Amino acid sequence: MKVIDTVARMMTFSRMVRKEGKTIGLVPTMGYLHEGHLSLVKAAKISNDIVVMSIFVNPIQFGPKEDYNNYPRDLGRDEELARSAGVDVTFYPSAKDIYPEGYATYVNVEGLAKGLCGKSRPGHFRGVTTVVAKLFGIVKPDAAYFGQKDAQQAAVIKKMAEDLNMDIDIRVLPTVREADGLAKSSRNKYLSGAGRRDAAILYQSLLRAQSLIKEGEKDPNKVIKTIKAMIKTKGSSRIDYVSIVDPGNLKDVATIKGPVLVALAVFIGKTRLIDNVVVNALSP
Ligand code: AMP
Repeated sequence: MKVIDTVARMMTFSRMVRKEGKTIGLVPTMGYLHEGHLSLVKAAKISNDIVVMSIFVNPIQFGPKEDYNNYPRDLGRDEELARSAGVDVTFYPSAKDIYPEGYATYVNVEGLAKGLCGKSRPGHFRGVTTVVAKLFGIVKPDAAYFGQKDAQQAAVIKKMAEDLNMDIDIRVLPTVREADGLAKSSRNKYLSGAGRRDAAILYQSLLRAQSLIKEGEKDPNKVIKTIKAMIKTKGSSRIDYVSIVDPGNLKDVATIKGPVLVALAVFIGKTRLIDNVVVNALSP
């Protein structure tokens, strides 16, 4: 496995690979890898000649009071995991290389980036789309791989790629979970003891929501109420949002019909966790 740590070298490598007629699959990450990231690598390996994993904790997607400085980092461990998963290139640029002095261009997807996490994290998706657009320009992938855990992120990136004719296949892979259902996340490292045990309520409440919808519940407010009541039983929890939206436009639904995205963000102590399920409602 090659480790490339400058934008210029990554661009040269990608140009060369493409000249040889080989395809590139890109897995963008912020590192501190877990099985969720590695499931994306596995999918990328199936359909591409070369798999590039970027590891970059993107400063511009963090709010001023968020965890940019404390975000877990361990390049040595990540390199080991990436190598054993079969990554061909780990791209590990510096923030200065990505955003040099005088950097001035940002990508903003309107609409989709507004609700859900966009509400409590203003500027977050602008940071995400900007860095992903840059990574697409640098790595020049044929396909890029994202996780359903970050459903809004995946929707926003798909829209960006489509609107800007990026000609990159955006693939979204299922959420990988711990044994108790908690979605794997680099931020789970912040959890311990009671908080870690409490965190399992997120997925449990989503499963309960799924059952209610499958049993025919059409009123999103009733389902949301049930989820919130379950989460509130855990002392360490504080709800940011629980929403039931149309998976296409991410707007709140008035009635549950067809597929809906049930999404939530909850603080467990100081750690903000997100999760979601897509549920296909019974036809009326
Ligand atoms: P991150 O390093 O958290 O920015 O995540 C990098 C990519 O991995 C994003 O596309 C995430 O959606 C995806 N990802 C993170 N956690 C999971 C998970 N538990 N299952 C599947 N994909 C995930």
